Amino acid sequence: MNSINADLHCHSVLSDGTLTPEDLAIRAHQNGVQLWSLTDHDVIGGQHRAREAAKTLGMKYTSGVEISVSWMRQTIHIVGIGLNPDHPELVEGLRKTRDGRTARGKEIARQLAAVGIAGAYEGALTYAGNPELLSRTHFARFLVEKNISRSTDDVFKNYLIEGKPGYIGHVWASLKESVDWIKSAGGVAIIAHPGRYRLTELQKHELFIAFKDAGGLGIEVITGSHTPHQYEEYAKIALQYGFYASRGSDFHDPAESYIDLGKLPHLPPSLQPVWSLL
Ligand code: AMP
Ligand code: MN
Ligand code: MN
Ligand code: MN
Repeated sequence: MNSINADLHCHSVLSDGTLTPEDLAIRAHQNGVQLWSLTDHDVIGGQHRAREAAKTLGMKYTSGVEISVSWMRQTIHIVGIGLNPDHPELVEGLRKTRDGRTARGKEIARQLAAVGIAGAYEGALTYAGNPELLSRTHFARFLVEKNISRSTDDVFKNYLIEGKPGYIGHVWASLKESVDWIKSAGGVAIIAHPGRYRLTELQKHELFIAFKDAGGLGIEVITGSHTPHQYEEYAKIALQYGFYASRGSDFHDPAESYIDLGKLPHLPPSLQPVWSLL
């Protein structure tokens, strides 16, 4: 079961990816994915399309989402899979979470204008496939277009992050809310890319305990955001805390993403896969 090619984390044009749900499904299938989930940021609008596309290809699908959460003044991402995308509590919670992205985008643009980068709001919007989900990724693509940075990765070193131009602190959902919405929709909550958060060991321990107390069950171990060393580190954490382990590329775009759909190592055999819960 651990050697199933499951890819339970990626993004479409409904959030900050550049491919449609249909094209992602084709790409996942071509790459040998056997169980797939589209997990757009704070948006479930692509779920029926993704499921239909997967069905046409004969690929197993589980509905998903990646929720932006504020925890200890940091942004954490919680992935939900196996959920009913039409559940009213989830739909309403995500709508609330998305609110404020437009105002935040205008503030980001104002800061960029102050350092001489004009037209960023309108520029970022041209990259947003879904105007309700204006993301820093869209600003990053605009800054690359304007030759201000060489790549979106470079953008996130000099702009759009805390202490640099174009960063606006934002309050997203609470950890408990995100897990509650996922659970009420019948899904399984998973901590996304834990290796990416700038937290101390103690803060991480507190996050894992708070997540467990809230009813969270899973943690991403094999993700496009982790180094091979972090695969081992979070495999140990999964065993230590009794988390089910997840695997997902976090694919956004063929040129931007280092890891393609399904092109990841298998889950270590010692771990319980989250897909055993589906
Ligand atoms: P937002 O939800 O608008 O704050 O945007 C967050 C998105 O920006 C993430 O989902 C990533 O796709 C992208 N992102 C954030 N930090 C980085 C980074 N250091 N390098 C590349 N992409 C990043
Ligand atoms: Mn993203
Ligand atoms: Mn994420
Ligand atoms: Mn993601």
